[in-house]
Amino acid sequence: MSMWINRIDTHILPINFQYHAPKTLEEALKLLAEYGDEAKILSGGTDLLVKMKQRLIEPRHIISLRNLTELRGIREVEGGIHIGAATKLREIERSQIIAERLPLLHEAVKAIGSIQIRNMGTIGGNLCNASPAADSAVALMALGAELHAQSIEGERIIPIENFFKGPGATALKPVELLTAIRIPPPPENYGWAFRKIGRTSLDIATVNAAVLLTLRGGRIDLCRIALGAVAPTPVRAVRAEEHLRGREPTPELIQEASELVVEDISPITDVRGTAEYRVEASKALVRDALNLSIERAGGGGR
Ligand SMILES: Cc1cc2nc3c(=O)[nH]c(=O)nc-3n(C[C@H](O)[C@H](O)[C@H](O)COP(=O)(O)OP(=O)(O)OC[C@H]3O[C@@H](n4cnc5c(N)ncnc54)[C@H](O)[C@@H]3O)c2cc1C
Repeated sequence: MSMWINRIDTHILPINFQYHAPKTLEEALKLLAEYGDEAKILSGGTDLLVKMKQRLIEPRHIISLRNLTELRGIREVEGGIHIGAATKLREIERSQIIAERLPLLHEAVKAIGSIQIRNMGTIGGNLCNASPAADSAVALMALGAELHAQSIEGERIIPIENFFKGPGATALKPVELLTAIRIPPPPENYGWAFRKIGRTSLDIATVNAAVLLTLRGGRIDLCRIALGAVAPTPVRAVRAEEHLRGREPTPELIQEASELVVEDISPITDVRGTAEYRVEASKALVRDALNLSIERAGGGGR
């Protein structure tokens, strides 16, 4: 009976664990090295605590990032824009740098949950939770982000395309911490769009999509299309991208490219929608997002 209640709704964390609140990154990495598989990082807790209450995970050690100010903040650096992994989603939403330089990310972050969730939740948590529907993930894929992972052995940089390994699984080793997200400087005059369908404004996506593109001489040049909630991980619609590159963005071409997204997705049926619905929604979202991106890139409305 108690197990059943725990799976439905409870305010109780039913397992014993040791709570650590390291004061420095070095201390946090040492704890991770010591406890590895038995430890879980606590950032905002909006995913982790739900899973612990449902007993989906039962870590013996919780390592909180709350004191690690070096993992927070947004700044322009030589290689682009740096966002600390423990930066709150609300801070990103309110950042002038993000609104001006990366409006695609601004819009995607604004679509996450509610203000309360964004006040607690962090960008690193959104990525490391590795939900196929994570809203920041599709935007960061379209933006070509790189993720910085650190352990006591040192740092490595993971292109976001290689980060997601399946629902809830990432390329991070148990001893590694995601420390930052680095977004390269966006190209001149780029067009962008973020689209999301959810059952309610508070729900995670049934399907989401992000597009970034540029035009050169009236033809599509750079083009990245990312989709979420339609495969075990967020995915790039590479066949559609290839079809568009170097070509004039006519309504027929946009339609053809939108149809091609089916080549890169493998949606399932779940409580949020059927696989068939997700296929049709993916095509429609990508078509809309492409049209808006072309307009924003100076290619005129369609
Ligand atoms: C009501 C509600 C609505 C929501 N709506 C949305 C939505 O619309 N869109 C959406 O995308 N998500 C949504 N979420 C999910 C969640 O809020 C986000 O994924 C959030 O960004 C998670 O961040 P966090 O800091 O709370 O992560 P946490 O819960 O602290 O951590 C999540 C996971 O990542 C790991 N982790 C966290 N930080 C690091 C790090 N730096 N290095 C290594 N591992 C780390 C943790 O160990 C844990 O496994 C919603 C959640 C709720 C409860």
